[in-house]
Amino acid sequence: MENSIYDLIIIGGGPAGLTAGLYAQRGKLKTLLIEKLIPGGQILTTDWVDNYPGFPEGVSGFDLVEKMRSQTERFELPIVSDEISSLSVKGHDKVIAGTQNTYTAKSVIIASGAVHKKLGVPGEALLGGKGVSYCATCDGPFFRDQEVAVIGGGDTAVQEAIFLTRFTKKVYLIHRRDQYRACRMLQDKALANEGIQPIWNAQVEKIIGTEEVEGVRLKMVDGSPDRGLPVKGVFIFVGIKPNTEWLSGLLALDGEGFIKTNDRMATSVRGIFAAGDVRHKIFRQISTAVGDGATAAFAAERYLETL
Ligand code: NAP
Repeated sequence: MENSIYDLIIIGGGPAGLTAGLYAQRGKLKTLLIEKLIPGGQILTTDWVDNYPGFPEGVSGFDLVEKMRSQTERFELPIVSDEISSLSVKGHDKVIAGTQNTYTAKSVIIASGAVHKKLGVPGEALLGGKGVSYCATCDGPFFRDQEVAVIGGGDTAVQEAIFLTRFTKKVYLIHRRDQYRACRMLQDKALANEGIQPIWNAQVEKIIGTEEVEGVRLKMVDGSPDRGLPVKGVFIFVGIKPNTEWLSGLLALDGEGFIKTNDRMATSVRGIFAAGDVRHKIFRQISTAVGDGATAAFAAERYLETL
């Protein structure tokens, strides 16, 4: 690995990071993108994307990532695989420590994304991989002709519940309120789907089973009697948390750990920018991540001119 100083290092290879890389390469910055596993981020666990412009029929998450990645390849964006454990600042230099190497750059874009939140109920950890899942595209086909529960009421829960009806006999869509948070179009699609049975005002109290999931215990928050539901799979989509623990207090974060930025994607430390789901923002979409990535690369370029 070359040990010279990069103009820009991008941490994370989801849509925000790949877009930043594309713009940085076209701006002729000496750039490196570092990705923990393989480029793609959360889209890789999304079966189908219907709301990314330019694909009138929609596009599979896998194909969209592949197109983004091959576009960066055309502009020869160097991508390495490494897991970053710390970021520190020495004068104008930013030092990034990974498990494989230590990297130095004049500017950094953090696009490390977010991961699913745990529900935090008994049985969840014990039955992880034994019926409890956080990825419908990965695990849905294991539940052919079975009954499963999906927990959550946001875009992810509703979208993945619809996807799961391709395989399953029935999907119970369990939400703690009497209104979904998901966009109206997804709500309408789910409510019109005969394979989905909504259960409103219910909190999962416990996931039942020892060797495999046997059901869920529901606490009804509307005063109706608590109930058990025999299901073979439990898909949990109760929101996301940002991958920012490794920053160890270097940057200003919001109450949930998302990185605070201004409209130039600048963080509280000069020369460090953030883009995509990892930053505090109102709307997390592939399209907004792409916009963040482009803005962050442009702002990093402007910052480098000031050095
Ligand atoms: P989200 O929008 O934060 O929704 C989380 C859902 O889980 C909410 O309905 C919430 O209930 C529920 N929840 C949270 N904690 C819970 C708990 N302890 N017990 C039971 N339920 C709980 O998360 P998301 O759906 O993963 O979406 C994340 C972001 O990605 C959002 O910005 C979303 O718009 C975006 N996204 C977009 C698409 C798309 O455009 N097609 C697809 C996927 C994701 P309350 O509603 O009561 O708070």
